[in-house]
Amino acid sequence: MAERMLKFVGTPQAMPDKRPAAERRRDFDEIYQSYAQQKAAEQASRCSQCGVPFCQIHCPLHNNIPDWLKLTAEGRLDEAYELSSATNNFPEICGRICPQDRLCEGNCVIEKGFESVTIGSVEKYITDTAWQRGWVKPIQPRRERTECVGIVGAGPAGLAAAEQLRRKGYQVAIYDRYDRVGGLLIYGIPNFKLEKEIVQRREKLLRDSKVTFHLNCEVGRDVKLEELRARHGAVLIATGVYKARDIAAPGVGLAGIAPALDYLTASNRQGLGDTVPDFESGLLNAAGKDVVVIGGGDTAMDCVRTAVRQGAKSVKCLYRRDRANMPGSQREVKHAEEEGVEFVWLAAPQAFLGKDKVSHVRTVRIHLGMPDASGRQTPQEIPNSHVNIEADLVLMALGFDPEDLPAAMGAPDLGVTGWNTLKIDWKSMMTSLDGVFAAGDIVRGASLVVWAVRDGRDAAERIHTYLAGKALAAQRIAAE
Ligand code: FAD
Repeated sequence: MAERMLKFVGTPQAMPDKRPAAERRRDFDEIYQSYAQQKAAEQASRCSQCGVPFCQIHCPLHNNIPDWLKLTAEGRLDEAYELSSATNNFPEICGRICPQDRLCEGNCVIEKGFESVTIGSVEKYITDTAWQRGWVKPIQPRRERTECVGIVGAGPAGLAAAEQLRRKGYQVAIYDRYDRVGGLLIYGIPNFKLEKEIVQRREKLLRDSKVTFHLNCEVGRDVKLEELRARHGAVLIATGVYKARDIAAPGVGLAGIAPALDYLTASNRQGLGDTVPDFESGLLNAAGKDVVVIGGGDTAMDCVRTAVRQGAKSVKCLYRRDRANMPGSQREVKHAEEEGVEFVWLAAPQAFLGKDKVSHVRTVRIHLGMPDASGRQTPQEIPNSHVNIEADLVLMALGFDPEDLPAAMGAPDLGVTGWNTLKIDWKSMMTSLDGVFAAGDIVRGASLVVWAVRDGRDAAERIHTYLAGKALAAQRIAAE
């Protein structure tokens, strides 16, 4: 079968067709079409089956990529799906939104002279096909266990852990302060990157697998962490990071300046059919406005592209470093540019001008100096280089920090790090509280969906070890 592979020499890279930018600007649908089976097989056959698969090594889930590419090239899609879903709870989600250019595809060996295999698109194709053909089934554990695990947070970390624990037969209850399941998958990431039906069908699968959800339930306010500890054999905290970073600049409190996540949540809610007063009033709606987004990560990219779709008059992204040094995916920058976003590299906000409402952002040009301890070049302001940019909506996408969880959850003994993330013992994934585990962004700081899935899976494994140990100890005591 090897002759089916190694086709990268004669077959060029081809992503699935991308809808024209002019069309994309008018709606919130995903921008790529799907592969047809023949195209997926052809693109999968470009894999060189190299001896040391760097794609797999650089995937946080160590997905068995070369093998499922080979199975796809051979038309054995059911086996390809089985293999890809063995290491990843949400391959169709990662296929859509992983920054593949920095992970698997960025490390593909053929990238050295040819363009990489389109791993993400093939992954998405395999799992979308599995859903269409009814291969994705609710979990029916071989054996039901009586122990129940409580999970705080229905984002990818909590959901991945829930699925893994159900597979082992544990009862699982998930608590979330949002009214919908998915965390940032539902309210952060826009529909044009990840259509909400994709998340909702995963929710249904978990419900059909007998995972129970307690929504609109904030742990710390509606139920205490101590109550959950008494109710469940183990508790997993997977609450993400939500405190928006700010800058101290004159005028930062002016009307018309909003945190990025408030803006994206309003847009996602509106797309899901909710009535959103701040969107209706125009407060969190870019229609007809000159929009300036500050930041260079995924959140900033999602804001600029949402603003375009809402009908903004102009959209600019202000970032203090250059294109090569931005944290967001280069692919996303390209999409944004095609859609009409203007990037203002090497520029930082100094002040926000306006009487009652913001009218301009005063910016200063930046020079990248010597690398600091982290290895990144330090941004330095160039004197007398000010430019005022017109703006009637400014979105702050400067990153996120954890909330003060020990205070919010009424659990002063819950240990945190110097960054306020939850401190865990990485071997057991347990926090400073016995039987309380943690996973995802609340442990790592703002990260990626694929890392949240990895952590959720690892945490489920450690919770199983913990509960099995407890059960064994109880048996020993009973036998004495
Ligand atoms: P979350 O997804 O944040 O879920 C945490 C859940 O916990 C939420 O549902 C929240 O309501 C709930 N919660 C919080 N506190 C409580 C409480 N006290 N009681 C009950 N429930 C609580 N990553 C990528 O890989 N690709 C991307 O393209 C990408 N784009 C992004 C775009 C944006 C705008 C943002 C903000 C992030 C993006 N990320 C992306 C990062 C990714 O979304 C996160 O790394 C990932 O969602 C973290 O998963 P999590 O389960 O740890 O937390």
